[in-house]
Amino acid sequence: MIELDTTITHYINGRAVDTTGGRYAEVFNPAVGEPCARVALATTAEVDAAVAAAAAAFPAWAATPPLARARVLFKYLQLCQQHVDEFAAMVTREHGKTFSDAQGEVARGIEVVEFAVGIPQLLKGEFTDQIARGIDAWSMRQPLGVVAGITPFNFPVMVPMWMFPVALACGNTFVLKPSERDPSASLLHAKLLKEAGLPDGVFNVVQGDKVAVDALLDHPDVEAVSFVGSTPIAQYIYARGSAGGKRVQALGGAKNHMVVMPDADMDMAVDALIGAAYGSAGERCMAISVAVAIGDAGDKLVDALAKRTAALKINDGMEQGAEMGPVVTAAAKQRIERLIGEGVEQGAKLVVDGRGYKVAGRENGFFVGGTLFDHVTPQMSIYKEEIFGPVLCVVRMPDVGSALELINANEYGNGVAVFTRDGGVAREFVRQVQVGMVGVNVPLPVPMAFNSFGGWKKSLFGDHHAYGPEGVRFYTRHKAVMQRWPNTASSGVEFAFPQMK
Ligand code: NAD
Repeated sequence: MIELDTTITHYINGRAVDTTGGRYAEVFNPAVGEPCARVALATTAEVDAAVAAAAAAFPAWAATPPLARARVLFKYLQLCQQHVDEFAAMVTREHGKTFSDAQGEVARGIEVVEFAVGIPQLLKGEFTDQIARGIDAWSMRQPLGVVAGITPFNFPVMVPMWMFPVALACGNTFVLKPSERDPSASLLHAKLLKEAGLPDGVFNVVQGDKVAVDALLDHPDVEAVSFVGSTPIAQYIYARGSAGGKRVQALGGAKNHMVVMPDADMDMAVDALIGAAYGSAGERCMAISVAVAIGDAGDKLVDALAKRTAALKINDGMEQGAEMGPVVTAAAKQRIERLIGEGVEQGAKLVVDGRGYKVAGRENGFFVGGTLFDHVTPQMSIYKEEIFGPVLCVVRMPDVGSALELINANEYGNGVAVFTRDGGVAREFVRQVQVGMVGVNVPLPVPMAFNSFGGWKKSLFGDHHAYGPEGVRFYTRHKAVMQRWPNTASSGVEFAFPQMK
């Protein structure tokens, strides 16, 4: 268990290592608004040491039979299941989300490990007997080498687990650079992996900021980089990483719409919006931040949402009954409140105002109340920017065609949902919408571990989505082999063009 006054260190070659560079960042408990730890910020030399450890561990790990690798992950899976609450408490302490939400995050991460223990099945190649006389062909998938993962603050357990269980099962070695806002969980992963029997150097953690990220991006021994975070940084990671010849998947930000048709089950739609907009204080890449109300759905929806938004139970995420916790930092709170102000200035109707929200006994916590805007237009900054806070914008549209135009013109394309009872409308919506993950009467269509996760447009740079079969393709290279063995029938020189005999 990590103590509150601790220094959160790197983890290199099987042991905790502090920085020698003297740079640290404070890690806050956002519910109380005070630091709870400090985290080391890596120097370039420390990143080099982590990559060197991973490179040294690679040949033996890659040569370990896939089933033996899977068995280590199977043990790790069991350990994770025993430590769900410890992981979740770390997340609530450093991120702020409610404890039950944090438990859900851990559960979704564990599902990727469950998928990863079956990866030997996906590493199988194809075989064709006798592509020519005496010659057979097959394909195989091989690991890349040292791969790096750079992850955001909003899912400090789950998003790293989108990456390293798959990468390790495929035979790669890994360097994780977690978010400096909530870094503790990365060390619990390291500890449990070691306890599960993972050889030293196969999984390493470097804590840090841009210095560590740039060192990973420029390191010649890092073969691939998986990134999840905001769009400007995703674009930067993709450009710089791929310029250096690396394989890069960089998942970015989002602005997710939920279209509510007049025939929708309104209670279901309101429940869905409340959970998807305000769960985790809106700090989810799949959060619904725009409700598109079609025709006369608008008034009913806004009336019901207003009551529910104003009644949200907001508290320290460790408190029983809390539905929503604080946002992650004082800067995030300031930014969200500034954007709410801009929404008012730019003419949106502020139905519920969450600015200046105070929780008794937690007066310094970074709380923002649930906020609801009506009559939002695409020109307003609250529509254009990813707010990443508990702010729901209602845009009114006359029909599903104009909703589709709005959504398809948006620069992001992560998640979207349509709520309707009309199968024909839903089907056309699914076919025409330019978004990577689509829900029909499902507000957060987050694919399961055995599928793959990824958005379109500025929500993902690169070819492969995260985890699932796409993750296996990302973390392996395809090799085609053609083989002939000498025998008496095939010996002898042929000068004529080969023909079948
Ligand atoms: P962020 O982009 O600020 O940080 C992500 C990572 O990049 C962190 O590890 C951080 O240390 C590093 N980083 C930050 N600035 C950097 C810089 N200038 N140069 C190099 N590295 C830098 O993102 P965040 O605030 O931690 O996370 C929230 C964002 O992540 C939101 O935009 C959200 O939509 C997005 N997100 C996307 C998905 C997805 O699947 N598409 C999932 C979760 C979060």
